[in-house]
Formats: sequence, C-alpha cells, structure tokens
Amino acid sequence: MLKNYINGEWMASTGTETVEVINPATEDILALSPLGTTQDVNKAVAVAKEAFKTWRKTPAIDRTQYLFRLKTLLEENFESLVKLCTEEHGKTLIESRGDVRRGIQMVETACGIPNLMMGQSFEDIAAGIDCQAVKQPMGVFAAITPFNFPAMVPFWFWPFAVATGNTFVLKPSERVPLTQIKIFELIEKAGFPKGVMNLVLGGKEVVNALCSHPDIKGISFVGSTPVAKHVYQLGSSHGKRVQALGGAKNFMVILPDANLETSVKTCLESIIGCAGQRCLAGSVILCVGNAYDQVKKQIIGLASDIVVGNGSDPRTHMGPLISNASVERVKGLIQSAVDEKAEILLDGRNISTKKGYFLNPTVIGEVKSHMRIAQEEVFGPVVSLARIRSLDEAIEWINNSPFANTASLFTASGAAARQFSYEASPTMLGLNIGVPAPMSFFAFGGAKDSFFGDIKAHGTSGVQFFTDTKVTIQRWNKDSNIW
Ligand code: NAD
Repeated sequence: MLKNYINGEWMASTGTETVEVINPATEDILALSPLGTTQDVNKAVAVAKEAFKTWRKTPAIDRTQYLFRLKTLLEENFESLVKLCTEEHGKTLIESRGDVRRGIQMVETACGIPNLMMGQSFEDIAAGIDCQAVKQPMGVFAAITPFNFPAMVPFWFWPFAVATGNTFVLKPSERVPLTQIKIFELIEKAGFPKGVMNLVLGGKEVVNALCSHPDIKGISFVGSTPVAKHVYQLGSSHGKRVQALGGAKNFMVILPDANLETSVKTCLESIIGCAGQRCLAGSVILCVGNAYDQVKKQIIGLASDIVVGNGSDPRTHMGPLISNASVERVKGLIQSAVDEKAEILLDGRNISTKKGYFLNPTVIGEVKSHMRIAQEEVFGPVVSLARIRSLDEAIEWINNSPFANTASLFTASGAAARQFSYEASPTMLGLNIGVPAPMSFFAFGGAKDSFFGDIKAHGTSGVQFFTDTKVTIQRWNKDSNIW
C-alpha cells in the first residue's frame, strides 16, 4: 500500500479504500493507492502550518539551495523517473522524457526566486515620504493534479510556492501516484525541512477537505472542466485564492499558403502525442479553401503509419489510453460522428491486442461545428477535419467554443497571423506550432471553460499567485515635529 509523506515521514493513510494503479499497456497492477481522508488532510495542513513559521523566515537564497539540490537529484534519477512515468501512464519513453524535463525546468526557474520575488520602492512619493512594496508568502498552499502528466504538472506549482516561502500539500492523481512518490523520495533526500512539502494520496474526499480547510490559503487545480469548476467554487467560497485549469478543445487552422507537408505532420503529432491525452492536444483541423483535400490525403497516410504499442518499447510511436473507460468513451465519440454523418476516413477502433487500453489513430472527415466530435474534448487519438471558407470563419468557429485553451494557425502570411493572434479567444496560441505550451518562465493557462481564476500558472504569474503584496509608506524626517 502506498504511503503519504507528512512532516518528513512516510506514513499510512487513514483511508481504508484503495484504487489500483494499473499499467495501461499491460493491465498489470503496479500498486494500491489509498483513498485518503479529511483526517490525513488535517494532519498534513497542521504540520505545514507549523513549518511555515520558520520557512518564511528562511532567506530566499537559502530556500533555493534545497531546489538546487533537488535539481541535481532529478537529473541523476532522470531515466528511472521516465520509466515510472511510462509504466503508470502509458506514454512513450520520449514523451515521458518531455514530461520529466518540463518538470525540472520549473525547479530551475524557481531557483531564480530572489530576482523574481523582488518588490518595488520609490523615494519621495510625496515630499520626504518613501514607499516600498514587498511580496510576502502567505502560508499553506495545495495542488490537486491530473493523470496525464504524472511528473510535470505538480511542478507547475510547488517549486514557486516553496521558493517564495510557503509550505505545501500535494494531492496527485490517484491513477498515477508512483512518479510523484519517487519525486518525494528525492525531495526528502534534498533535505527540505520537515513539514515544508507534504503528499496526501486520495480522491474526492481529500480534494474537498483541501478546498474547505481554513488554514489553506490557496488551491492550484488541473483537471477536467466540471471538477475545475467545483474546486473553484468550493475553494473560493472558503475564501481561498484558486487557479483551476480545466479541459480543452484545441483547433488548428491550415491556410492554403502554409507549408502543407510540415503543417500536417505537426498537426498529427499534436493530436496523437500522448495518445491525445494532453490539454494542449490539437483536435479539429480547420482546413481553409483548397487545403482540405491535400491535408486529408496526407494525414490519412501519416496516421496509418503510426506504430501503437507499449510505451516502453522504443519502436512505439503512440501508447495506450489510461483506462478501458477512456477507450470506451472515445469509441462512443467516434460513433457519434458516424451517427451525425461525418465521414470515417480511418477507423482506429479495430485494434487487436490481448491486453492494454489501446486505440489506433482515427481520422474523421467532413466534420461540422454542431457535431459532438467538434464540440467535446476527446482526450484520445482522433483527428477531425473540417472544410471551411476563410480565416474569419475559422476564428468564429474557435471563438464559439466554450473552451479557450489553445489554438494554432499554419500560414506564411504575417497579416493572417496577426489577425489570428489578435482575435482568437484561447490564451495560448501557436503560429506554425502544434503544441503551444508556455515554458516555465511564461504564464500557462487558458480562458473561458479552460480556466477558472485570475492568476495563471508558473513564471511571474506563479510568483504572484503564491505571494501577497504589502505596501509600506514611510516618513523618517529627522527635523519633523509630527511626533
Ligand atoms: P479529473 O478532473 O478527473 O481529475 C483531476 C483531479 O481531480 C484528480 O486529482 C482527481 O482525484 C480529482 N477529482 C476527480 N473527480 C473529482 C470529484 N468529483 N471531486 C473532487 N475531485 C475530483 O481529470 P483527469 O482525467 O485526471 O485529467 C484529464 C483532464 O485534465 C482533461 O480534461 C485535461 O484537459 C485536463 N488538463 C488540463 C490542463 C490544463 O492546463 N488546462 C492540463 C492537464 C490536464
């Protein structure tokens, strides 16, 4: 049975129910993860609150030494983390390397906190009066994370939180806790003081306890839109800062002047990477004018050549989905497209494997905006192709979606690129880029039903989320007689 990490110790959860952690390529049971309780949360928050008293007074240059040590440990254990990530999630080794690497980059960026956290000051805001604004840590923060990036997503938050002087409780996805357990072993080795970093395993009960705990100052959430909304509402109704990153429907527009060969390859990679289980995965390709027929021909060819299999086999291009329920859900969405009279150009549902939650890539043509396949998040390897007349129509289609995570445009025209950047509602855009994932030193997060809150993840936004600004206005005139 997996254990919680609280106050620098590995301890049994008080929960009695468990979830099986399953390798989705083999269906082997890798571990049993406990469904933690409110009691576990109370314990973790109490020690984190106590640890905050000392940690917030520890100078930032000393706090970052723990992160520098962790960075070295993460590099030394890079390939074992990659292996674990592939085993519990299913993604290919190359994809897991990206997952772990992006996580390490967050630690690297947070090591720059003495610069990032610096405040402002101004002499003589009025005669003889000076003003300073400092960024102060706030207390205990928590993050609740999804299954699709077992290594990276928790790193979007906690390095920034603890570097700025807060203490932390992480609840990873109950479906992929193993990579985080290994990372917490490294956190322990890096020597963080007791109570600064805590791990509580579990599901709904732990989430609700974190969102309503009076001693938690803020919640970072990443997951599906319904749960993001719930966490945002529950957390904010308990007076917390909340940043809740939700689901997505990412459109990709190809104009006839684009380099079609590269654009189609890039779009396919975006759609089938991690078997489509990325919040930045492309979904519907909006082909403008005569681009449609060429895109269709090329993408069917490329998608047919994708080698599906166990992600730990280096020959594999695409691994399994996370569960049988996911496979059935994606199959259902493909069927809805058939029922709504779209054209199935490549059917990935017919795949013969004895074990594992696999689908081949599917390509669907003549998709229209009213169809479910055009509106819902698929989170599976399904390419949808739509034939449209103009960039204006593409932008209208994108802006009508309730989601607004990312969108990409493929073109050689600067004017088209500018119009797209200016008018499209998603807040992470790609111009001739298929997965516009902001790096650790930029802000990450969408809009509309893809994001609930005000302050986005990582970069200087992370620093803003995890600190409060205190302004002190002062007068120290030696000849003043105001006393
Ligand atoms: P999920 O919403 O099922 O789970 C996310 C977290 O919420 C998990 O830790 C889970 O334990 C918890 N949870 C699940 N149901 C809950 C409930 N009813 N009450 C309280 N807590 C609950 O999401 P998932 O399937 O793990 O991840 C996939 C989703 O995450 C996709 O929709 C994807 O787009 C989204 N995602 C978004 C981003 C982004 O940056 N916007 C990044 C990664 C993933």
